[in-house]
Amino acid sequence: MDYRIFALRYGSNGRRRRFENVIHNRPADRPEASMPMDFFVWAIVCGDRVVLVDTGSGPETMTARGHDHLRSPVAALADIGLGPADVGDVITTHMHWDHAGNVLDFPDARLHVQRTELAHATGPSMCSGFLRRPYDLPQVSEWLQALYGGRVTFHDGDDEIAPGISIHHVGGHTPGMQVVRVATERGPVVLASDAVHYYENLDAENPFPVLVDTIAYVEALRTVARLADGPDHIIPGHDPLVRTRFPSTAEGAVALHLEPVAVPS
Ligand SMILES: [Zn+2]
Repeated sequence: MDYRIFALRYGSNGRRRRFENVIHNRPADRPEASMPMDFFVWAIVCGDRVVLVDTGSGPETMTARGHDHLRSPVAALADIGLGPADVGDVITTHMHWDHAGNVLDFPDARLHVQRTELAHATGPSMCSGFLRRPYDLPQVSEWLQALYGGRVTFHDGDDEIAPGISIHHVGGHTPGMQVVRVATERGPVVLASDAVHYYENLDAENPFPVLVDTIAYVEALRTVARLADGPDHIIPGHDPLVRTRFPSTAEGAVALHLEPVAVPS
């Protein structure tokens, strides 16, 4: 089974600085230097099967947190000829505000999440303002609506969502962080989401500053590398370089199943 995968950008932040995106900064690294951030959802497509990885954020949450909302995931899907009713499954890599919104826009989809992630987002950790900050109450409330509607499937660790699409629990960034491995004509591609925000987080082993378990984060980098068929088969979650390294459709959907335009060094 070979899938097509499209990275669909729904937001950006051109004001982002380097020190916000990597933990380790020497003065020579110019911590204040510009390091823009993109926000994506990913569509996995083969025939009638459409799996959406993450569901982004609505404009209110995005704007309140200082980022630029470009379009809804529904509008982004329309660019590749799909509607919300085509989405049979949603894999939520983790429940941070920029990944877990808009779930009610996909009423026919089954939602796949790690048990530890929803437990974290609805349990004692949320008594802490620091741990609560990357989560969004309206989004979590919509998740509970979906849960009570019988639409949520919990996973404990690695699992297969469909032939050629597997999820792998890695933790680190959040307790229930999972990555998605997808069979394509160029070999298995790993959608790393926020296990790897930027290529640099992986290449320099320099973590993104938001994480709950440093050791698990570093081990996740190794897991992602092991699951992928080489560096150009790893897709970071927020790196604008993705849009230049892979071919795009006329509407701007980035085709990750195709060979890269420029291979990362
Ligand atoms: Zn994110």
